[in-house]
Amino acid sequence: MTDLASYAAHPEASRGRRVPEPAAPTRNAFQRDRDRIVHSTAFRRLVYKTQVFLSHEGDHHRTRLTHSLEVAQLGRSIARSLGLSEDLVEALALAHDLGHTPFGHAGQHALNAALRGHGGFEHNLQSLRVVDKLEQRYPGWDGLNLSFETREGIVKRCPPELARELAAHEPASIWQRFLDGGSPSLEAQLTNLADEIAYNAHDVDDGVRSGLLTLDMLREVPLIERFRAEVLRDHPTLAQDAPRRLLAELIRRMLSAQVYDVIDTTRLRLAEAGPDSVDAVRAMPRLVGFGDTMRAQSAELKRFLFRSLYRHPQVMQTNAAAQTIVTELFAAYQALGEHGGQPRAIADYIAGMTDRFAIREHERLTGQRLLPL
Ligand code: MG
Repeated sequence: MTDLASYAAHPEASRGRRVPEPAAPTRNAFQRDRDRIVHSTAFRRLVYKTQVFLSHEGDHHRTRLTHSLEVAQLGRSIARSLGLSEDLVEALALAHDLGHTPFGHAGQHALNAALRGHGGFEHNLQSLRVVDKLEQRYPGWDGLNLSFETREGIVKRCPPELARELAAHEPASIWQRFLDGGSPSLEAQLTNLADEIAYNAHDVDDGVRSGLLTLDMLREVPLIERFRAEVLRDHPTLAQDAPRRLLAELIRRMLSAQVYDVIDTTRLRLAEAGPDSVDAVRAMPRLVGFGDTMRAQSAELKRFLFRSLYRHPQVMQTNAAAQTIVTELFAAYQALGEHGGQPRAIADYIAGMTDRFAIREHERLTGQRLLPL
């Protein structure tokens, strides 16, 4: 009935939704989840949420929305080669960043600090909170009532104390694996890696476009240098004639190499481990991944990006302003007694904001505009 591999997550064998619903006539369970995600309010807000660069810093940088689309593209393309469910990977890719605060990680740090003693804030758990609770679009329940497999894949990390508490309320749920040490589906493992592949590549692109990185600086990264040399061998004058095309071509080749590496490595591991169902996958260590060399080179690229881009003085300056905005918004709502003065409700409200809404709202409450619109 489907051409999915035995180890894939099969929509007709889904563990179901928290509130049972009849099957849809033309769509499988994961396609339906994807559609619910695309129609959600949180999804539309991803257009105006920062990945690394704020939207006033240029029209061509990635936002959370375009990042999520790139993750879906990479993930689906790998899923197809491995016989995994493209539909589930697409749903996971489009949902994975729904819980991000405005201003990327800077916003999350500030919100986590504000919620110290009240359970903290973690964007990944917040993504689940959005689809489980915060979206209000159905007459009979809160959230989007997504299937088990989609919810399982959205949650990448969960501290054991919290997992224990949640599993007590919801036995045999997505929280159990954080207590038993199991793995999520291959589709979830894959989306996780596609996320990393996507942001490493597009942050190089955006970094150079912004002027914070140069092609010369990137030569210290072996993975980049390998493809730069390869492209220049094929097109010797590209560095002088069209440096933008050189960058685009080397990123394209790097992405292809990473995609093929994941496919080859994962195929080998699947052949060795031989899982014959998604439940067998759940009982095994993670199988989707890079080979040793690519894993080391990809980690080196990530370290370079931390050093040279994410900690660039200009990015740090924007982050500092962003943290102040989020911290002061939280304090202002608490002082005003909005949302009943409840820390979690205030955090939900702030986490849902777009960058520009947060900047304006902060200005309204404090009289100061800390970042340009
Ligand atoms: Mg992401």
